[in-house]
Amino acid sequence: MSLDRSIVHMDLDTFFVSCERLLDSKLIGKPVLIGGTSDRGVVASCSYEARNFGIHSAMPMRMARQLCPEAIIVRGNSGIYTKFSDMVTEVIKESVPLYEKTSIDEFYIDLTGMDKFFGCHQLASEVRQRIIKETGLPISFGLSVNKTVSKIATGEAKPNNQIRILQGTEKPFLSPLSVRKIPMVGDKTFRSLCDLGIHRIGVIQQMPMEMLVKVFGKNGQSIWKKANGIDNSPVVQYHERKSISTERTFDRDTTDVRKLESIITAMAENLAYQLRRGNKLTACITFKIRYSDFQTYTMQKRIPYSSSDHRIIPIVMELYKKLYQRRMLVRLVGVRFSHLVEGGQQINLFEDSDRVLNLYQAMDKMRERYGDRAVMRAAGMEAKSISRWNPFTGAPPPLLANRRR
Ligand SMILES: [Mg+2]
Repeated sequence: MSLDRSIVHMDLDTFFVSCERLLDSKLIGKPVLIGGTSDRGVVASCSYEARNFGIHSAMPMRMARQLCPEAIIVRGNSGIYTKFSDMVTEVIKESVPLYEKTSIDEFYIDLTGMDKFFGCHQLASEVRQRIIKETGLPISFGLSVNKTVSKIATGEAKPNNQIRILQGTEKPFLSPLSVRKIPMVGDKTFRSLCDLGIHRIGVIQQMPMEMLVKVFGKNGQSIWKKANGIDNSPVVQYHERKSISTERTFDRDTTDVRKLESIITAMAENLAYQLRRGNKLTACITFKIRYSDFQTYTMQKRIPYSSSDHRIIPIVMELYKKLYQRRMLVRLVGVRFSHLVEGGQQINLFEDSDRVLNLYQAMDKMRERYGDRAVMRAAGMEAKSISRWNPFTGAPPPLLANRRR
């Protein structure tokens, strides 16, 4: 691996709030909360003005309202955010040779080797200015030799700014920061580190790696490396077709419409469950049908980022109905979700009423415990199980035994 890489991490500032402000300028400069508006809703995103009141994302909306009664609460709209996200992606795609889109508002860009021609810092600055000019959205970036340091640098740059960490200065940059800023350190790990008296990244830098491994197992090694500014992970080219899919070939070709619809529903439902398991969202659905003469047809549709059954299944059925035109035996059907990005929870926090959200959570919990057939739509009952290894983490399917009924 080349030692002098140039990796940029770009992150749109309070993305959902910034989108809403473009649509309604009255929201500018005010504390704004995006999320479920009901009593049991949760804050999906909030403006810096709201953060000054101690509000943060994932906080119960009721608590946020108590902390800042004058806050303006907006129910999110994933369709709008998807459009803005696409606009930003388009600018980046046109400007750089290699980028990775990791969530609806976050990108890594590999500018290694571009120094000879432009100067990476200048190029990154120009991309950022173009995004601000063309979309109106504030965005920040960090530039360094790897993903971890750049991501942390973006956090330090915010709001609406940029930071460059010169090669060789990674450790002193990280040293005074809270261990909470290490990307993989969540609430639980943070508390454990605090219990050990470790608050600043610099303390980890002075510890031998083995000590952290003793406490945190394999994660300890990753934490230690990140704390020391070591990260060799590559920027993986983002393909809009980055996808998960499932197919079903029939033992005997069929024209049984009821059976077809049942199977397709079950396939879509199971695939949406896989998305939620991987905390992923899809923005493009493809349906495929193959007839007994091996003629194959596919049709796809862009949708707002989602992982919700009630948004996805109707689209799959719509595509199936459009595509299934020939009165001929069907040999195979397939469903594919592409344009995947991270960040399921954040979108789902406002996209759905908590009733629907709680329903999915309860159903998914049952699937994790009792297998993917423990609960399903009546329309999909006739389909065989299509449970599988988690396509994102490689985790085994829920309840391995007894999968084939
Ligand atoms: Mg962001």
